[in-house]
Amino acid sequence: MKQEILLQTEHLHKSFDNQEVLRDISFSLTKGEVVVIIGPSGCGKSTFLRCLNGLEPINSGQIRFHGEEISAQNKQLHRVRQKIGMVFQSYDLFPHLSILENILLAPMKAQGRARQEVEKEAIELLTRVGLAEKRDAYPRQLSGGQKQRVAIVRSLIMQPDVMLFDEVTAALDPEMVREVLQVILELANTGMTMVIVTHEMEFAQAVADRVIFMDKGVIVEEGQPEKFFNCPQTERAKQFLNMFH
Ligand code: ADP
Ligand code: MG
Repeated sequence: MKQEILLQTEHLHKSFDNQEVLRDISFSLTKGEVVVIIGPSGCGKSTFLRCLNGLEPINSGQIRFHGEEISAQNKQLHRVRQKIGMVFQSYDLFPHLSILENILLAPMKAQGRARQEVEKEAIELLTRVGLAEKRDAYPRQLSGGQKQRVAIVRSLIMQPDVMLFDEVTAALDPEMVREVLQVILELANTGMTMVIVTHEMEFAQAVADRVIFMDKGVIVEEGQPEKFFNCPQTERAKQFLNMFH
């Protein structure tokens, strides 16, 4: 079976001022694949995700989405961003809008979809993440874990082809981490294509089809989760994994 490549980078370089943060990253993501990226703080994980959906201009190399080059100059970029959902550590929901209104805002404004249609879909998604009864609540009335699940719904309602998750549980109390990871695991089971940055190693092993270990702006090692976690090949990966034992 031919694997359809959704997202690809070739020789991607990215610098801030004089600091080269991503150094020659070549990466591809096939439809339905779940890739987990791990690596020490500051190694470039967030920058890489931001480049992938066109939030950061790049210095050289290429990024392609469905085979089409995307760059910060591309006029189609807003369309690309709608098809690449991203969820961050901070969920920044609008405080003055109800949960339902938070979710409906982008599909109605940016995609021009009818309220009736998106509202139905919003309720379905809220039900899926166990929050249907919170539709009329306001963000301040929700726990961190609940807000993060709403943030995921807000991304999914745009019907993305790919979802990017950047340490979405890092700011949560331990008891809320699990409920958010569970939602992501279920999403993986529906066949969603995803790139996940996380420090939750058990979760990484459970959800990943492939693990990428980054350090200092390069991909140091990648492979199947079983193999990577049980016998990492490089010294740097071994040292990194040892911190979690
Ligand atoms: P990670 O997500 O792996 O912790 P980041 O991608 O956030 O790493 O950061 C990689 C490097 O780039 C760090 O040294 C960070 O300080 C630097 N960096 C990130 N964003 C910016 C920015 N907007 N301006 C300048 N430097 C940045
Ligand atoms: Mg980061």
